Formats: sequence, C-alpha cells, structure tokens
Amino acid sequence: MKVCKFGGTSLASAEQIKKVCEIVTSDSDRQLVVVSAPGKRSKDDIKVTDLLISCAEKYIKTGAAVDEMKAVVARFDDIARELGLDGTITEVIAADIKSRLSGPVTHEGKLMDSLKAAGEDNSAKLFAAYLKSKGFEAQYINPKDAGLFLSDEFGNARVLSESFENLKSLNDIPGIKIFPGFFGYSKHGDVVTFPRGGSDITGSIIAAAIGAEVYENFTDVDSVFAANPNIVPGAKAIKEFSYREMRELSYAGFSVLHEETLEPVYRKGIPVCIKNTNNPKARGTMIVKERTSDNGIIAGIAGDIGFSILYISKYMMNREVGFGRKVLQILEEQGLSYEHVPSGIDNMSVVLRSKELSDEKEKNVINRIRQELVVDDIEIVPNLALVMVVGEGMRHTVGLSARATNALSKEKVNIEMINQGSSEVSMMFGVRASDCETAIKALYKEFFS
Ligand code: ASP
Repeated sequence: MKVCKFGGTSLASAEQIKKVCEIVTSDSDRQLVVVSAPGKRSKDDIKVTDLLISCAEKYIKTGAAVDEMKAVVARFDDIARELGLDGTITEVIAADIKSRLSGPVTHEGKLMDSLKAAGEDNSAKLFAAYLKSKGFEAQYINPKDAGLFLSDEFGNARVLSESFENLKSLNDIPGIKIFPGFFGYSKHGDVVTFPRGGSDITGSIIAAAIGAEVYENFTDVDSVFAANPNIVPGAKAIKEFSYREMRELSYAGFSVLHEETLEPVYRKGIPVCIKNTNNPKARGTMIVKERTSDNGIIAGIAGDIGFSILYISKYMMNREVGFGRKVLQILEEQGLSYEHVPSGIDNMSVVLRSKELSDEKEKNVINRIRQELVVDDIEIVPNLALVMVVGEGMRHTVGLSARATNALSKEKVNIEMINQGSSEVSMMFGVRASDCETAIKALYKEFFS
C-alpha cells in the first residue's frame, strides 16, 4: 500500500481536487490519503488555516467571530459547489466549525488547536464526499478513532509511540481512506496540532505504522532543487537525497517537507517520493536510506533566518568542570531548547531560535549566567542566519571548508560561527541574517556552477 499526502495547494480549489482524485484513483495501491487544509489559490490568497487562526483570535478576544466563520465556510462551500456536491457537506462543515466556537474559552491553546484542526478535518470530509459522489469506495477517518495520540503540547505536539500500533488497524479498512493531516488527540481527548506545515508529519507516521511501500508527498513542484530556486534561479533539480541530507536541508530552510517529517519513515526505511500534483508524470525526488545516484559531493545548500546567538567568554573556561552543563541547565530552567553549541577553550556560544526568546527570558538568562558562573563577557546577538552545505560525499573530500569560506569571503560575508558536526554530512555557517541570500548564492556558485 502507498500512503499519499496532498498539500494545501493540491486541495485549494475544485480544479485541484479533481487532479487529486485522478491521481489517487489511477493507482489501486493508493489507499491511504492524507490531506491538508485548502491552501492558497493564488499568491495573494489566504490559506484556510490562516482564516481559522483569525477566527480563533477574534473569538478569544471578543467571544464571537461571525464574519470570520462565514469566510471559512464560504471557502469550503465554493469548492463543494464547483465539485457538484449537494449542500449537505457544507451544512456538515458549517455545523462542525460552529460547534468548535461555542461556550466560554477555558484554555486559549486548546481553542486555537481545535480551530486550526478544522481545516484538515473538513478538507478530509469534503474529499471523501467527492470520491463517493464519483462512485469510489472511500471514507473519512477520524484520527481519534484510528488512535493517533499526541503529546498535549498545543501547536507543537509530538506523536506518542502507542499510535504506531493503533494505526496498524487502518490496514483492515477496505477502500480509500481519507485521513486529515496536522492533528491528533491528547490522552485527555483534546485536539492537538503539530507545528505549522505538520500534515507532512501525519503522512509519515501513517506510512511507518502501516509499513507502506512508499510515502508519496504531493506538492506543487516537479522535484526538490539543490537550492531555493527563488534565490538561485535555475538551481539544479535533484533526483535522490538520503534521509540525512534531506533532514539537514529541511532543518535549514528547505520548505518542501516539514523538518520533523522524516523520523518515522527513516526508522522503518520507507522511501519518500516528492511529487507534483500538477504534473504527476514527472518522476519527482526520492528520499532513501542509501542513495544510488550520484549527487556529486554536495547535494544542496540551504539557509534560514530567525536565530540568535548567546556568546559567553571566561578565561580558563576549559578547566572549569560542569561549566557547559550549568549554562544549559539555566536555559532549561527558562524553558529554552538550544540548537547548537560551538565552543572554544575560553568561550562557548549557544545558538537558539529567536522566537523562543522573550525580553524577560533573555534578561533572566544573562543575569543568572553572569551571577552564577561569574563570566567575563556575555551577550545575546539576534538576527543570525544559519546556512548549511549538505552532502554525503563531504566525508571523503578534503578542502571543502576552505572552498566554502573562500567563496563567502569573496562576497564579503562575515562568518560569525562555523560548525561541522560529527555527522560530516553537513557544514554550517552562522552569518548575519542580511547576508543569508548572498551566502547561499556564493556557496551555490562555488559548488554547483
Ligand atoms: N494546514 C496546516 C498549515 O497551514 C498544516 C499543513 O498544511 O501541513 O500549517
């Protein structure tokens, strides 16, 4: 069996949904379909998930969100009409959204997640109704009934391991099963969502649980490119990545797959195929355990902004037992997770996601480290970008960091930090956010031109 997941642009309109129907029903192995909420129909359009977020915000603030709710229902209704469905499905969707917005708000995170999940949930119901109207055996699956349980971290959930065992029973349901992406249920019965873009994660969990032959992830590009084509026009299309390459590239900004997607399929060795709903004949990009095709030394270059760096220096830091642990413990006590910790003999830097750092947390971290660890210098510098050069071939090649730093210096990009992890599948450069695109272009030119 194949698990296929369709992203927001694939479900944005009736025209797109017809293409999805054609893709699903043209291959009898495509029996498990994971759907996103309807996305943008054009560049300036608004995703249904964003409409739902506005709806929840308004309700939390004022206790009502009539116009916002109408806008969401209208999006679904337009699609349903154009698909030739009768009004029943719109009534079901309108009633569902209304029921999520009733009563007093007892917990803002719960209400927000319940609304966010309505996009995928109703998209799945709508698509199942369409398949049935065309005479196919299809049914909507509710994640709670299927046993998809998540941690109760609202907006940032992780899968609980028992879900894999529960979801195996999907194999016993006949016909095409339409599963909404992006959310599951906590053990307390609340709807909880993955981080934004998380329908990719749902598809991967299901593929791993049922032992799929392949996880097909349908989006709106023919393949994955070696660099973001909006930054490097004409960037090379890549036919095959290893899981490790793709994991590092999506961490550092490749938006084609959510960065948490690969773990479940990686553990089971299930290949992933990125395909285009608008051009399903194109072979797409495969993500596999061991690549057979040769990507050259470097498979891709990615970059992302939104990081901050905490610099700490103290003379003779290297002789102080437990220094690093104490720094990390202070971060932990402030609820901060860290990304990287490059260090020297008398200094230590910690890279963090800027969105996690409030002014108050920043002040607390600086004060506590200063007082408790008596450091010589400490500061937090925002606006850092991480740029990664990724490729399995790096391990066996001498002189790559020299080439990379040279390419960056030619473009006058100042390197704030270098980190070559022990995996040797990537090299990471911290640069000013304003230099991010220049750095990506310079590295692409060096390794691909
Ligand atoms: N609809 C959700 C979002 O816009 C999840 C997804 O599309 O994967 O983030």
